[in-house]
Amino acid sequence: MSVERALVITAHPDDVDFGAAGTVAAWTTSGIEVSYCVITDGQAGGFDPELDRSTMPEIRRREQCAAAKEVGVDDVRFLGYVDGELTVDRELVRDLVRVIRQLRPQRVLLQSPERDWDRLAPSHPDHLAGGEAATRAIYPAAGNRFAFVELYDDEALEPWSPDELWLMEHPTSNQAVDVTDHFEAKLAALSCHESQHPDPERIHRIMRDKLTATAVEFGLPAGHLAEKFSVHRVP
Ligand SMILES: [Zn+2]
Repeated sequence: MSVERALVITAHPDDVDFGAAGTVAAWTTSGIEVSYCVITDGQAGGFDPELDRSTMPEIRRREQCAAAKEVGVDDVRFLGYVDGELTVDRELVRDLVRVIRQLRPQRVLLQSPERDWDRLAPSHPDHLAGGEAATRAIYPAAGNRFAFVELYDDEALEPWSPDELWLMEHPTSNQAVDVTDHFEAKLAALSCHESQHPDPERIHRIMRDKLTATAVEFGLPAGHLAEKFSVHRVP
């Protein structure tokens, strides 16, 4: 099945760059059009107590847009929810259905709605809530003309069902993407989030170690780097 368009849904600015920026770069390089939808503005992030917190949404949106360009993504949409307060509710699922119907992606990459008890940080409550809401949006709501009828009646958004669902940071993964050729682009994207990382070199070392371990886990040749996912067909 051919994939022309992919959508990445994350809770915070920088999530996609930690979990999947190498894969996104591989996709855009192969001609797939990728869009980002970032649910919150990451207001609770950062490390500088002197920074005026009211400026954080603007800073983080700018950083995410710059990071997106590093991996070939020009379309970044922000839903404007508040960092740390995401819940799975009708409003969030409807907002995600709207984006899916507008963009009509064959592939959607999102955060795992299931908590990994061995790695609590990637299982941030916003990630779980955003992942669950996105899963509900993907199936069955986006493809059902009678779900969230206002989207069809008021905005003329036709139903659309994605074919593939890719979960990042899931407790178990069934697919790895070789991102060896795109690792520099991933690091460049991560480096755009200056407000979040006082020591980018440390982040780069952690990423290299993690992606090396993933490549080994999936039997890739020595020296390769990979990102892993739990990939599923949407009925
Ligand atoms: Zn996050």
